[in-house]
Amino acid sequence: MNEQDNECMPKITINGDWCKGCHICVEVCPRRVLEVDEEAFLHGFHPIRVARPEDCTICRQCELLCPDLAIVVEEE
Ligand code: SF4
Ligand code: SF4
Repeated sequence: MNEQDNECMPKITINGDWCKGCHICVEVCPRRVLEVDEEAFLHGFHPIRVARPEDCTICRQCELLCPDLAIVVEEE
């Protein structure tokens, strides 16, 4: 089920230089859009990846709660 049909699509940008790998964004996302990338290991931690952008409701909880301002959610 995709609730974004006929609405703005989200653009989720992660700044890999600012991200510290705390994974707060993964925990707070109510739609499980974000995932820990267990196959990658950068800067000493597993980075996050946008696994299901089509499920994003643009609630911006991830953006608001990221302590490093490393994730930005925009409407396209
Ligand atoms: S909350 Fe911010 S710093 Fe933490 S993993 Fe997510 S993008 Fe990276
Ligand atoms: S904006 Fe909301 S739904 Fe979209 S990735 Fe962030 S927390 Fe998840």
